[in-house]
Amino acid sequence: MSTIFSKIIAREIPARIVYEDDLCLAFHDVNPQAPTHILIIPKKEIPRVAATTAEDKALLGHLIHTAQTLAKNQGLHDSGFRLVINNGPDGGESVPHLHVHLLGGRALQWPPG
Ligand code: AMP
Repeated sequence: MSTIFSKIIAREIPARIVYEDDLCLAFHDVNPQAPTHILIIPKKEIPRVAATTAEDKALLGHLIHTAQTLAKNQGLHDSGFRLVINNGPDGGESVPHLHVHLLGGRALQWPPG
């Protein structure tokens, strides 16, 4: 199922893109929950973590590696940051296209609500 994120990949709607390669795209969240709030998404249309297969192992690793590189670029390596992947209704997923949230720039609370 195509979502608004596929439209961002296709440049059909605008986004503040910060990184792109053959496998993924990263852009600022439109409703930031922290001073830095970037979404890292695969170009492949995968709805959520629960829909991934063994074939996606390398892609999943690539998303996390890209997130840590972006965290470094954002100056968050020393202060810290959080990576979040919401999955399904109870997980708080609102866009059914797999995405990693990179959050940082303030002290984040734990546990989440
Ligand atoms: P989730 O609730 O984990 O599915 O996260 C979806 C995220 O996508 C939310 O943080 C939204 O603010 C964000 N979002 C939705 N539409 C857009 C958009 N057009 N551009 C950037 N971020 C978006």
